[in-house]
Amino acid sequence: MTARARIGPRADVALMDGYHSPQVDVAVRLNTNESPVPPPPAFLDAVAAAVAEVPWHRYPDRAALGLRTRIAALHGVEVEQVFVANGSNEVLQTLSLAYGGAGRSVAVFEPTYALHAHIARITGATVAEGERAEDFSLDMGEVRRVLAEAEPALTYLCSPNNPTGMVETPETVDEVLGLVPGLLVVDEAYGQFAPWSALERLGEDAPLVVTRTFSKTWSMAAARLGYLIGPSWVVAELEKVVLPYHLDAMKQVAGTVALDFVADMEERVAHLVEERGRLEAALRDLPCEVWPSGANFVLFRPTTRDGGEVWRALLDRDVLVRDCSSWPRLDGCLRVTVGTSDEDDSFLAALRETLA
Ligand code: PMP
Repeated sequence: MTARARIGPRADVALMDGYHSPQVDVAVRLNTNESPVPPPPAFLDAVAAAVAEVPWHRYPDRAALGLRTRIAALHGVEVEQVFVANGSNEVLQTLSLAYGGAGRSVAVFEPTYALHAHIARITGATVAEGERAEDFSLDMGEVRRVLAEAEPALTYLCSPNNPTGMVETPETVDEVLGLVPGLLVVDEAYGQFAPWSALERLGEDAPLVVTRTFSKTWSMAAARLGYLIGPSWVVAELEKVVLPYHLDAMKQVAGTVALDFVADMEERVAHLVEERGRLEAALRDLPCEVWPSGANFVLFRPTTRDGGEVWRALLDRDVLVRDCSSWPRLDGCLRVTVGTSDEDDSFLAALRETLA
């Protein structure tokens, strides 16, 4: 039989690169900003018991009311202000489906989380890219220029910003919120590690949504669960475009049970914040430029050796960090996730050897 011609994807998709985050089997994995420790054993037992009660032959609660009610209580908002999905990436995708798309634009300020622009493009929107200042803070002149030229339906901030670790100040968020012609999305995937949250600025009349995830602080990256808090009129639109029954019953149960363990989560966060301080201080004692972080990772640039070479040398010593050295604006930079004290010691020893 002769080979049949294969249909290509959409022309814009054909030209796109996928999102790459290489995983390598190593002893010390500090490349994806996960929690270095699992949730408490009591959580695992409670989830197992709750999953055993799931009526497997029935579709899950489509509105995920139980889980959303608990998240609403955690943040002191109404259940109608909570949207849940499969990881905060699906929350971002749903925002883009509802508010972005063909004929609309989405603003991002680089360097920032690559998926904001990637998801916007996949859903057909035009991406308006602004540049951050030299020190990676937001340049308000640039923000005004991008917003005036592109009139974006969605404007993204990421606080703490991935990969720089920088937390936007309340003044910056207020100023941008006053300027956006559409919705301001503050991605707080690392929000619990930071000293303040844009959740304080939420209200039915503010065009602001804040996204969060169970992947980092909650030690639940495997479950793929994230959420958004925002005005009820935004949540109502998101519910229209997301697939019916998108959130399976096991995940709803796992998220609900997790919220019985807030104190354990806060303890883990406090420990990681302390450990982050130790890591930053140790990096500053090495020939490295280090950016102050409000997240569970630290961006640094070795100053005596090429960043890509250092990444490879660390890998040879069984330590995997994120290689940002070829990303725009981040020449020679690496990003290390805060791990357990032992993992961080292994990383620091390998780095000291590499830079000696
Ligand atoms: N936002 C930011 C800034 C992130 O760094 C990540 C994870 N890399 C996400 C969102 C996505 O998280 P998840 O889909 O696991 O909730």
